Amino acid sequence: MRTLIKGARVLDPGNVDGYKSILINGQTIEAVLDPADVMPENGTDFKVIDATGLVLVPGLMDIHVHLREPGHEYKETIATGAAAAARGGFTAVCAMPNTRPVNDNSQVTAFILGKAKAAKGARVYPVGAVTKGSAGTQLSEIQDMQQAGIKAVSDDGRPVENAQIMRRALEYCRGLSIPVFVHAEDLSLVNGGAMNEGPPATFQGIPGIPNAAEAVMVARDILLSRLTGAHVHFCHISCEESIDLIRKAKHQGIRVTCETAPHYFTLTDADVKGYDACFKMNPPLRSEKDRQAVIQGLADGTIDVIASDHAPHSKEEKDLEFDRAAFGIVGLETSLPLSLKLVQNNHLTLENLILKMAKNPAKILGINNDITPGNPADLSLIDLKEKGVIDPSRFVSKSRNTPFAGMTVQGRAAATMVDGNFVFGLWA
Ligand SMILES: [Zn+2]
Ligand SMILES: [Zn+2]
Repeated sequence: MRTLIKGARVLDPGNVDGYKSILINGQTIEAVLDPADVMPENGTDFKVIDATGLVLVPGLMDIHVHLREPGHEYKETIATGAAAAARGGFTAVCAMPNTRPVNDNSQVTAFILGKAKAAKGARVYPVGAVTKGSAGTQLSEIQDMQQAGIKAVSDDGRPVENAQIMRRALEYCRGLSIPVFVHAEDLSLVNGGAMNEGPPATFQGIPGIPNAAEAVMVARDILLSRLTGAHVHFCHISCEESIDLIRKAKHQGIRVTCETAPHYFTLTDADVKGYDACFKMNPPLRSEKDRQAVIQGLADGTIDVIASDHAPHSKEEKDLEFDRAAFGIVGLETSLPLSLKLVQNNHLTLENLILKMAKNPAKILGINNDITPGNPADLSLIDLKEKGVIDPSRFVSKSRNTPFAGMTVQGRAAATMVDGNFVFGLWA
């Protein structure tokens, strides 16, 4: 089966930008053609897709997602998460290991990959735990898991508190050439806090979390990256202090990368309504000064990636007093429209956004997702024009915990193709 996608603007930063036709043969990109090239558009085994008006980009990747299976299938399953990802325009996601059981051995890794294959949505790249049970005391079976298919390790959800264990993990992962995804949080500084430390928290009587709770650990792990030469990738960076540290580390040639999430460049602690736990996430929404620093960090290249930290929770876990509710929000189906606002507001070019949502994530994982002959046909089609309102009742994720309900957005995923098959959109 061959498919020709024609009429779209093809945008693959550093590789292609122009009106091209993409010829797909089975699971693979066969050719990138000029519109004038003559194609045999007939025959029984040949399909032509007219994508006029859309932008076709390398498969978007969300490298920070919680799929909740095994163990918490009432929040999300691998199938519903992979479908939500496809609907959000993502051809691949990284599944964090804080499931039950934790993904700290090759059996769990294989289980996740099996479920993902059956789901026929976005690809799932499992992330293995750094330590057994993510308990922070003993390294997990990282090499076994790498052979089973993990692309990174992380104890996300909690920090690796012991610096010596972190050092050993980094040395080990450097040898295996896999990155360590760091959830940077000093729990003693968090000290039971539920939102950003600052005037809005004081006013609402909610215990605060200072920026230093994040930045102290960023500083530690920059130093450990320098010591070991390992690739440290910082998850969900939210504040100015962390961004300044990472900028300086990059200038010094230390092997660090980082991501932020759409909520950190869209909302601030002034938006937090103390009765609504859909505004409760970890790290918390910060001040306007931090939001501006995040945008600046994205613009100047300090922040490499936009990832959603998709964290589905049931209504029961969110319908509680603010300080008792679970941390986290869903993000797969809102990430692209919210990120396109950065382009509409002239903070990023579209090309730069595609770097942060497709190319840089792939590079961090050691995957080549260029639109080029021979590569898997993993492609995202984006409609930049369509306006809409975020409506959680239409999410395909099992959970609805978003602070963005009712927000007007422009632009959305129009279609998502994995391995030459549409998994979302008009032609699916
Ligand atoms: Zn985290
Ligand atoms: Zn997370």
